[in-house]
Amino acid sequence: MSYEGFISTNDDASHCKKYAVSKGYWFDPYIDLFVTSMPGRKTPEISRGYYIRHWCIKSLVEQFLLKTNCQCQIVNLGAGFDTLFWNILEKQLEPKHGFYEIDMPQVVKKKKSIILSKLQLNKSFLSEKVRTTDLTLDTDTYHLMACDLREVKSIDASLCAAGISKKVPTLILAECVFVYMDSSSISKLLNYFTEEFPIVLLADYDPINLNDKFGEVMRQNLSQRNCPLLGAFPDIQSKKQFYKVFSDVNIKLLSDVYNNLPSNDKQRIERLEFLDEVDLLYEMLRHYSISWSYNAPTGLLDAIKL
Ligand code: SAM
Repeated sequence: MSYEGFISTNDDASHCKKYAVSKGYWFDPYIDLFVTSMPGRKTPEISRGYYIRHWCIKSLVEQFLLKTNCQCQIVNLGAGFDTLFWNILEKQLEPKHGFYEIDMPQVVKKKKSIILSKLQLNKSFLSEKVRTTDLTLDTDTYHLMACDLREVKSIDASLCAAGISKKVPTLILAECVFVYMDSSSISKLLNYFTEEFPIVLLADYDPINLNDKFGEVMRQNLSQRNCPLLGAFPDIQSKKQFYKVFSDVNIKLLSDVYNNLPSNDKQRIERLEFLDEVDLLYEMLRHYSISWSYNAPTGLLDAIKL
């Protein structure tokens, strides 16, 4: 993917999140610090889709933090302008062994400069030693680093240099990232994390089922903007097969998550904007999946569910 391709996928995600937050889908006081311009209008389908994506990731992250009593670490792959770190810090749920974010150099440089220039983002580091290089930002709790996820050796070197522990429970987050990588690179990355980190949960959100008409339109739209969807699985079974380096693999389509949202939450978001084409929303949600897969001692992560 080209330079513009990487940047544009992050711009897209952060603009859609900012728009959905401005409409009241969820609360995030930090997104405005990363996206200062007002994004153009998004359809209600897009904002509802982003809400469900946000709900899934938040739920998996919080369940993991509670199960491990925060005695854990989080590695956020292709983190973009994700604000998760500041939101869990505010709830005093930050992982005690650190929060690590990886993205391409262009995105990391921008994120680093925004963090360093805004007190709301860096005030929690004030009592800590902050170390920076052109492509890294390290504090006692938060670590940001530039790496290409297709280069496992450099990821290992960067994470180790930032002080990651291979012994503590580790949550690997991949929110809409693997889809931009080829399957051999995803496979190498999964092998690395499962071989090096004995207690590991992977939570990933990505397009799926793209081998139909609707999927073809999604592929074409992104390819025209230099963002080919390389790592999308044709169906849940093939994704499960691919993830067999984990002892337990769970995958759900977003359409099923939406149907099973807590009813007060579902009613609340359905009142925010009038949605004419409910069928279109379901069609879209059938083309995205959330998965959570783990290797862990019996009893530690089994109860995590959506
Ligand atoms: N995870 C964030 C979120 O959901 O808000 C950002 C998602 S954005 C769609 C995809 C991100 O993955 C971009 O920031 C992009 O730069 C990053 N990315 C894609 N391929 C990558 C690679 N090979 N190495 C590092 N980062 C990558």
